[in-house]
Amino acid sequence: MQCALCQQERALCDSHIIPSFVYAWLKETSATGYMRLGREINRRVQDGLKPKLLCEECEKRFSQFEKPFAANLFYPLHKDDALRLSPGPWFRYESWCMKFVASVSWRVLTFFSQLGLKNFTEEQQRATKVALSTWRSFLLGESENPRAHELHMILLDRMADHTFSNLPKNFNRYLVRSIEPDVVRGKESIFVYAKMCRVLIIGFIQKSPNEKWRGTKLHVRKGEIGGLNYELPSQLLKNMCDRAQRLIELETKLSPRQRQKIDDEFEKQKERALNSECLSISLYDYEMFGPPDVDSKE
Ligand SMILES: [Zn+2]
Repeated sequence: MQCALCQQERALCDSHIIPSFVYAWLKETSATGYMRLGREINRRVQDGLKPKLLCEECEKRFSQFEKPFAANLFYPLHKDDALRLSPGPWFRYESWCMKFVASVSWRVLTFFSQLGLKNFTEEQQRATKVALSTWRSFLLGESENPRAHELHMILLDRMADHTFSNLPKNFNRYLVRSIEPDVVRGKESIFVYAKMCRVLIIGFIQKSPNEKWRGTKLHVRKGEIGGLNYELPSQLLKNMCDRAQRLIELETKLSPRQRQKIDDEFEKQKERALNSECLSISLYDYEMFGPPDVDSKE
């Protein structure tokens, strides 16, 4: 079969769309050590989407960026509470950062394109193909930068405070613990949306000049990221609220049998569960928004 990146005929691996260290972190900090993802809410899973996508060589190529990203940014971001309270910038990065972000954007978009972006217009389909080939040649070292298909990253944390009305009751948990790959077709822009716990990657297929994305754009060789000094289109917050709300709706579909299984697991590992990030963020949501409409243990 043909590798999607190098396009050589090779044996293909089960390739992660969202890197495995993200799922590992979610499990490690869950109350029960298990995950339930999106539509498959009634099934415990160990890992995310893994289609046959890349040859072994290209997997290795990606792991060169993945390792420094996990070690220098992802883990410190998730473990260092004091860092996240500082005004920032939180991190200085080097060339591994944009390559990693390009690799995730490319993987997510490749995955969704293979499924077929049926609601896209012809023009949007064309733009998607251009974004894919631009990111691909950047990843293969054939071009210097991702040109118009800018790569952005937003480092998230729970909200200190807010002045919005009608935020979903799980919004802090959504901000810090959800994993979600998607392609978003907004009013003005189209982009890859790769939510990986506290890291949100935005890879632009089409970017509107009318929208303000400030302090989130990545640079090829080096740069600084994270902190309180950024500005995003309000549409993005609305989109994230809808996603968090959808998660609440999915959790109402959890069967009584599965709910019992979670409760049993919770009892069995009470000490772990009570000290987990999962529980502390759910309590934080409770304090901010009141009792949840559905019980949402992981
Ligand atoms: Zn390959």
